Amino acid sequence: MIKSAEIIIIGGGIIGSSLAYHLSKLGIRDICLLEKGELASGSTGDSAAIIRHHYTNEISIRLVKDSINILSELQHETGNHFLHQNGWVFLCPENADSMFDLNMKQLIDLGIETKEIDIKNTISLLPNINPTGISKVAYEPDSGYADPKSVVESFAKIAKTNGTNIYTNTKVIGISKSNNQINSVETDKGNIKTNKVINAAGPWAYDISMLAGINLPLTVSREQEIMLTNPEQESGLNLSVSNMVDKIYLRPKGKHSVLIGQGHPKTNEIVHPDKFNRKADNQFISETQSRVINRFPNLSNFQLSSSWSGLYTITPDWHMIIDNDLSLNGYGIAVGGSGHSFKLGPSIGKQLAQEIVSSQSSSINISSLGLSRFKSNKEFKSTYGGNRG
Ligand SMILES: Cc1cc2nc3c(=O)[nH]c(=O)nc-3n(C[C@H](O)[C@H](O)[C@H](O)COP(=O)(O)OP(=O)(O)OC[C@H]3O[C@@H](n4cnc5c(N)ncnc54)[C@H](O)[C@@H]3O)c2cc1C
Repeated sequence: MIKSAEIIIIGGGIIGSSLAYHLSKLGIRDICLLEKGELASGSTGDSAAIIRHHYTNEISIRLVKDSINILSELQHETGNHFLHQNGWVFLCPENADSMFDLNMKQLIDLGIETKEIDIKNTISLLPNINPTGISKVAYEPDSGYADPKSVVESFAKIAKTNGTNIYTNTKVIGISKSNNQINSVETDKGNIKTNKVINAAGPWAYDISMLAGINLPLTVSREQEIMLTNPEQESGLNLSVSNMVDKIYLRPKGKHSVLIGQGHPKTNEIVHPDKFNRKADNQFISETQSRVINRFPNLSNFQLSSSWSGLYTITPDWHMIIDNDLSLNGYGIAVGGSGHSFKLGPSIGKQLAQEIVSSQSSSINISSLGLSRFKSNKEFKSTYGGNRG
């Protein structure tokens, strides 16, 4: 194990791995990424990893657009195929019509390829859909989903080639400072001297931050998902779907399986990241199955093939906190994915790397995501509520 590093990143999820990749691309050679389990063993590995631009605020829309470009380049660079741009469809209920119209206008003004489609066109994209109760539909042809584990491994592979030291199964257990300056990180395998630490520890980010003496407004909630499969029959689902009418999201996994979770509004189940039920509840399974069969009746003869729970790390306004200018010198944070930040992560890693290296603003201005927004009444407003953005 190395004895010192210029920059230590805590966490090997989408944020930490993208940050390591981008720092290494900017020429930093003395980076160390510490991960207590395997890469992508936190929220990222459990993620549905659906990618869509449909957000209320300009910054998230720009971050998604940039993230898709980064992922496309990373595919070329590594030869790995993890980005599925099969399209994304949003099914909107009548009570959200006006918000939908405002969002669509902003997306189109920002040059995003999106359009409102009628029910006839929706049926041509999703032939098995039951159209009852759907008021409006948005279609983004370039969106879709990704394989989150493969994305993280690809970022890490290039970062490693560029000289980054990546230690998996290495847990951070302490952070030392003197005169308000970070000076080392303690792990279960030894100490590493450093003047710069970035906390990208996902659901454990609160605990890591307390090691540095900085309190963060984060809560952790359990998020369940199921997979339905029929080896004898294709699902007919090629696109990712955010279905606000039935409060579910779904996307294909190969031709014979569909991954499904429940969307907002819903009750959050606050848990401790080390003590939660990794399986899905029976009631969740039957309720989710019945909602998806109501919308896609052809899935009625698909069986449950797996189910699991992961974690959302939620901030008070459901947007990440990215801050490299905190009161403690040498301490930065990229935390609080709030159930929707896989798709933002590739670009967030890039923007933060630019800020760290040049000490200047990044190519997309992320200053509005800083921690101080909660004290200065500049929280983000979410149109649809929760992680729908
Ligand atoms: C079920 C589910 C579905 C989701 N669906 C979507 C979606 O469709 N689209 C979307 O955009 N987003 C989605 N999200 C959200 C998205 O996955 C997360 O916002 C994102 O993955 C968070 O990444 P992260 O790098 O911040 O955290 P993580 O992936 O959790 O990474 C943090 C890492 O830090 C490590 N760590 C923690 N403590 C320590 C320590 N002491 N020492 C060393 N390492 C440590 C952990 O082991 C972990 O690997 C979903 C999330 C879940 C749970």
